[in-house]
Amino acid sequence: MPALTCDAYVLVRHPLTESSWIVSFFTRDSGVVRAVAKGAKRVKSPFRGALETMNRVRAELVVKEGRGLGTVRSVDVLESALDLFGNWPKASVLMAMAEVLERGLPEHGEEEETYRLTGAALEGLRAGAPPPLAWVYFQTWFLRLHGVFPRTEHCAGCDRDPHPLHFDWAAGDWLCPACRERQGTGGVSLGRGGETLLAAMMARSLKDLAGDAFPPADLKALGALVSRTLADYLGGPLASAPSDLV
Ligand SMILES: [Zn+2]
Repeated sequence: MPALTCDAYVLVRHPLTESSWIVSFFTRDSGVVRAVAKGAKRVKSPFRGALETMNRVRAELVVKEGRGLGTVRSVDVLESALDLFGNWPKASVLMAMAEVLERGLPEHGEEEETYRLTGAALEGLRAGAPPPLAWVYFQTWFLRLHGVFPRTEHCAGCDRDPHPLHFDWAAGDWLCPACRERQGTGGVSLGRGGETLLAAMMARSLKDLAGDAFPPADLKALGALVSRTLADYLGGPLASAPSDLV
């Protein structure tokens, strides 16, 4: 069986036996890979402390042909997420990110841009970005990278400029005021502040946005849009959604 040495984020652990876990990794080159960490729950396990959510690690995995579970051979921590887990709002963003990545990415599919987004979100949180901003930023970009959250230049009905931005649920896209009147089914208007926030998120890194103050109401408007759109994309709401954040 081939061994795969990869950089990866640890996502989620599921108990397999009294001493072992199934661990999902988000690898840089091969997307989500699930593998058994034998004996990882034992006190003297060499994996102890390494298989924590959103730790960036170098892992050696023995991968089976096809889609069967692999086996974890070794794990070295490159960057621990322990510093972020000391703060509950930040920790809740990390757990929600891990759930989005585990549920929303295909197994064994390369996801280089999403891998970089994950790193950028962690970097932004470490640079002092408020957790609600980080959470909305991560969701917005995750959707954009997967072709779900459409660009803002065109109305889905008539191809004209759709501003002021209104997202229609049934169209799954922006509708201009005229098309909204004709075929609108209900949705969310971002408002001027929400549009400014969205444009800032599309143009700048989270780390760069960390020092800006965005009105909570604007974050709420965009947050409501991306959370619902993400739940549709994933086929259901997040179990770990940090709903009290925005
Ligand atoms: Zn239109």
